[in-house]
Amino acid sequence: MNILTQKVALALGSNIGNAAETFALACKLLQSNGFNVTAMAPIITTAPVDCPPGTPDFANSALTGTFDGSAEELLNLTQSIEVELGRPQQHGFHESRTLDMDIIIFGRQIIHTPRLTVPHPAARQRMFVLEPLAQIAPDWIFPDSGMTVSQAYCLLQERS
Ligand code: AMP
Repeated sequence: MNILTQKVALALGSNIGNAAETFALACKLLQSNGFNVTAMAPIITTAPVDCPPGTPDFANSALTGTFDGSAEELLNLTQSIEVELGRPQQHGFHESRTLDMDIIIFGRQIIHTPRLTVPHPAARQRMFVLEPLAQIAPDWIFPDSGMTVSQAYCLLQERS
């Protein structure tokens, strides 16, 4: 691992089309563009949160990997993969989507830019992020709070 290599956790979501196929394709495209996937969580099905009535259920997963570039470069990559796999570049926040990929953890970096907030601010309130991530990266740390993924998951379970 070179000095710039970061350990990264991504959350995946989809509620249009065949999510298993979409996630497998997303993995392939990440792999061929410098993101080395190390683990992918089993897919879970979740009810939509904060979405209009009639929104189909979501498939969610998470993956871990290593990446040699910056978080902005990774965001460019994940956004281009979202578009390649059928998500319109301009999309509403609550819109159904073939693929959504969020950067949850990017090494020990804490980032606040107009394009990026990392660790992802909503991750610790979202069961559909923490449940799959806790299966593959329970000991990873949210560098802003110092909490591990499994601690955040247990806390959210207690609260809900
Ligand atoms: P979404 O509609 O969920 O795909 O949100 C995408 C928007 O969130 C983009 O404009 C990103 O620039 C922004 N964003 C901020 N922080 C993050 C993050 N940690 N991971 C992915 N997108 C992010």
